[in-house]
Amino acid sequence: MRAAHVSNYPLSLDVAGKPVVVVGAGAVAARRARGLVEAGALVTVISPAISEAMRELGDAVHLVEREYLDGDLADAWLAHAATDNPVVNAAVAAEAQANRVWCVRADDHGASDAWTPASTTVDDVTIAVTSADPRRSVALRSSIAAQLRAGDLPVKARRAHDGHVVLIGGGPGDADLITVRGRRELNKADVVIYDRLAPLELLASLDDDVELIDAGKQPTHHILKQEEINALLIDRARAGKRVARLKGGDPFVLGRGSEEMLACIEAGVTVEVIPGVTSAISAPLAAGIPVTHRGVTTGFIVMSGHEIGDLELAAKSDLTLVVLMGVGRLAALVDGLVDGGKSPSTPIAIIERAYAPDQRVTVSSLESIVEIAAAEQIANPAIIVVGDVVSVPTWLTASVLATHA
Ligand code: SAH
Repeated sequence: MRAAHVSNYPLSLDVAGKPVVVVGAGAVAARRARGLVEAGALVTVISPAISEAMRELGDAVHLVEREYLDGDLADAWLAHAATDNPVVNAAVAAEAQANRVWCVRADDHGASDAWTPASTTVDDVTIAVTSADPRRSVALRSSIAAQLRAGDLPVKARRAHDGHVVLIGGGPGDADLITVRGRRELNKADVVIYDRLAPLELLASLDDDVELIDAGKQPTHHILKQEEINALLIDRARAGKRVARLKGGDPFVLGRGSEEMLACIEAGVTVEVIPGVTSAISAPLAAGIPVTHRGVTTGFIVMSGHEIGDLELAAKSDLTLVVLMGVGRLAALVDGLVDGGKSPSTPIAIIERAYAPDQRVTVSSLESIVEIAAAEQIANPAIIVVGDVVSVPTWLTASVLATHA
């Protein structure tokens, strides 16, 4: 037979500073007591036996180590009957009813006249789920919380709010290689200023009223200068907007994120920086190349190929060398490394458009790569990797072939 319909009226209570009585001191009672303590209630726990979990709450609760007695709820605004004895729970519920105090019975959902929902808080949202199936409520609560955290459910504030800037590392380009926090903050934004190498696919799911600004292409066809981007961030934030600055990779790896952060701080604008998966590490990975490998190298150097400085250190080092924005000056890079002492036979890989459907990987040696790059018209965006780690995927293929031979 189906349980009778239970009428249900959801309500949130401010229990701060108000006496609440928990009868029982086992695991369930301890969970309830903890939640009440966190909400600021004055919690009295009544039970002849106190579990370890309840003792952990220490002085935060007032322990009365005896059986429940009629009259214990005299001052209570709320009661929890959470003993393992239905007779005691019924007695607590009866006193509560006589006093017109709400009582949650842990043992008998149907006999209870109040229920604690499965709840959690994400940002400033409380999620509370109640159903006749507590474990399903918990599963639903967790699922809703996870979707909120990921920005899959509406996260955008509709009330007026203070403007701020969030610099978001978007990862190497694939829409699902952004962090969960980055995605959520992007979905909260009123204004998004994005770079060419950011995961642009994510922009399609933003609300229609979000202002999208392409930092790489303006109606006037000029690329926004760094000062113009900084000014835009500050201007929109001062107008009370939540500004997301969506960048490729990690904001602090050759991405000028730190300049934008400083500009905001100097202007007195609140700024947050969310890390991203940098192409320096993930583009090699997309080609199966680890930047470190035990027995091969214990570290890596990341540098810009745009302004190649002194290559001597990199040339002398056994560490993997990862070069961003280096295709245009590949010849100078190779010359500098060989002149500095790197063997011309050192393996080198160039990964173009990592994670894009047209990703291309070219593997060669320092002595041959310049010619090959010209013949193959290798172009930015690309990551250059120099060092023995470039051969690791080949070993793997060789060992897989050997295993299957
Ligand atoms: N902050 C970014 C780097 C910005 S500099 C990061 O952490 O990844 C831009 C350079 O990054 C490009 O010229 C290229 O060298 C590299 N890059 C970014 N995304 C890439 C991708 N998907 N494939 C290959 N190289 C990429």
